[in-house]
Amino acid sequence: MKAAGGSGESVVIVGSVALDTVATPFGRAESVLGGSATYAALAASFFSPVRLVAVVGEDFPEAHLEALRSRGVDLSGVEIAAGATFRWEGYYEFDLNQAHTVSTELNVFERFRPKLPPAYRDTPYVFLANIDPELQLSVCSQVHAPRLTICDTMNYWIANKRPALLEMLRRAEIVLMNDAEARQLCETPNLVMAARQVLAMGPRAVIIKKGEHGALLFTPEGHFSAPSYPLERVRDPTGAGDTFAGALIGYLAYTNDPSEDSLRQAIVYGSVMASYNVEDFGPARLLRLTHEEIIARYREFGEIARFAAV
Ligand code: AMP
Repeated sequence: MKAAGGSGESVVIVGSVALDTVATPFGRAESVLGGSATYAALAASFFSPVRLVAVVGEDFPEAHLEALRSRGVDLSGVEIAAGATFRWEGYYEFDLNQAHTVSTELNVFERFRPKLPPAYRDTPYVFLANIDPELQLSVCSQVHAPRLTICDTMNYWIANKRPALLEMLRRAEIVLMNDAEARQLCETPNLVMAARQVLAMGPRAVIIKKGEHGALLFTPEGHFSAPSYPLERVRDPTGAGDTFAGALIGYLAYTNDPSEDSLRQAIVYGSVMASYNVEDFGPARLLRLTHEEIIARYREFGEIARFAAV
């Protein structure tokens, strides 16, 4: 693992950059740096150089751009458009796996049409965060022969943009979704059956995130289960899934190794980074995280999953 903007292969990340207002039973944060691409970019930056594609409004604080730059994130693909930045407000009750949306103000994000700068077009690793699958497909057509494309999605697109989403699943090597989304997409309560169905749609791996209960990997060859980390100090779960995804692709780009061993390690790094992210509001914890802390918790995950062979 390397320092900010590490020396692995480059990763391009496309998604939302937002101003979030979040309330949890442990406090409230007003207009903090948020968005799916923000969390993914910050997490990936611990492993590999990151190129961000997003849009913000003229009101977006320079300090937030500086926070991303401080992690070595390349912002030449971030457009500053006339208008206000995308804003999301939500709250969590004691079930921290369930976000309740209070308001979504799309603002400049409504007209977001991702446009990759020429220098980004040969990027070998691509993460398409949760945006309209038609926009995800438009990004795919702008990148020349990427080595690995990972896409995320959400219930809204499963319900409203199914044909484009299915086309996206054919184009991606790895698909990420949470347990409820997998059940919704495949219309089955059984996650194993859902994963098999998604694999039949095209990707070589499906990763199902189960919130605080870990993550499952399904490939045609097998199955891996990453443990959950017994955190006592969860303060704000916002961005956990995106942090997981960013670390996952960042680590895969760092090793540049398509093997299942590398994928399993990437999933554990994803879980490590997500477990840190939820310790504080917004991305505050990611912004003060160290490589030593990442390694220490990765080792703890190994201990949690260890048991004696018979
Ligand atoms: P997560 O907790 O991983 O699901 O991601 C939360 C982040 O997603 C927040 O920082 C929000 O700004 C962002 N977000 C919320 N709604 C949307 C949306 N409709 N499209 C894109 N990003 C969103």
